[in-house]
Amino acid sequence: MRSPRLQLSSRPQLFAPCLELAPPMIQRQRCLPDYVDFRPLGRCNLDCLFCYGPRHDLPTMGEDDAFRVVEILRAERVKGVVISGGEPTLLPYLARLAAALGAPYAPGEPGPKIVLSTNGLAPIPTMEKILPHLSWIALPLESADPGEHAAMRIGHARHRERVIALLGQARRSHPSVGIKLGTVVTRLNARGADRVLDLIEDDPFLPDIWKVYEMSETNYGADNRHLLALGPGEFEEVVQRCSKAAADRGVELRVYRNSTRSGNYFFVDPDGGAVVIDDGEERRLGSFFELYERGEGWLRDCVEGDANAANFTSTYPTWSPTGSPDAVAAAT
Ligand code: SF4
Repeated sequence: MRSPRLQLSSRPQLFAPCLELAPPMIQRQRCLPDYVDFRPLGRCNLDCLFCYGPRHDLPTMGEDDAFRVVEILRAERVKGVVISGGEPTLLPYLARLAAALGAPYAPGEPGPKIVLSTNGLAPIPTMEKILPHLSWIALPLESADPGEHAAMRIGHARHRERVIALLGQARRSHPSVGIKLGTVVTRLNARGADRVLDLIEDDPFLPDIWKVYEMSETNYGADNRHLLALGPGEFEEVVQRCSKAAADRGVELRVYRNSTRSGNYFFVDPDGGAVVIDDGEERRLGSFFELYERGEGWLRDCVEGDANAANFTSTYPTWSPTGSPDAVAAAT
């Protein structure tokens, strides 16, 4: 369906201007995919060996540029944004950014769904300022075995306890915020990954979605593949165990596989770069700001629209009034 390299080399020289550049009465062309991952920083207060986010020593995007990204995403009427990093709660203005990004587009017209992907270490008072602006929060737990978890999440001795405390706080204080629990499966946690739900004793505190990730060999994950990579079939064996554990607790399971990664994601990186996944690898397209201001409509075609939407809406579903998960295509 899509051949981004081909599109890049063969794209026409002139495009209709993007949304915010178009005169009001002209048919407007959208430049960006519906769902975007915004990574304003690489910096983090953990040092996970499998990390596939931007390098931690990349300079953090300036606040003015971060709000320019917000303006553009809103001008494009994107439908969902995952804010990640690095560790996004290290941005002192994150609550304001999430509020500006997720504000209604118009009276009666909701803004984009805002997802915060965080390692869960931010203090509760900090999170209390951010949570009201979120549709979903994504939190990590890697293993029921304390040693396995510690080997995966390096840098804070009580990381697991902090995540569980934040999960409980979010459930109690902000019940409308969905909770996604993520578990990255590597050689270091393959034994206890399927039992992470055992760490949450009370059913009301269980996550809405549990997503199990195959490790991506990108950035630090690539550097450490010799320590982390599972053999053929081992990931699927863990997935089978996770499926049973999820069914036993009535939790919806999602599975991320590297084979389906290409075409799903459009990242805006700390250096202002636009990045997509192509042939399983990150591919840098150039400056997000410059490409957008030039009205480069092919940016939207650098992801597969259906896959981009399905990836977001299956991980962060719209919940029906009955409380059952419903990845409502019509609502996207
Ligand atoms: S995986 Fe997340 S928490 Fe771990 S080092 Fe990378 S950005 Fe930080």
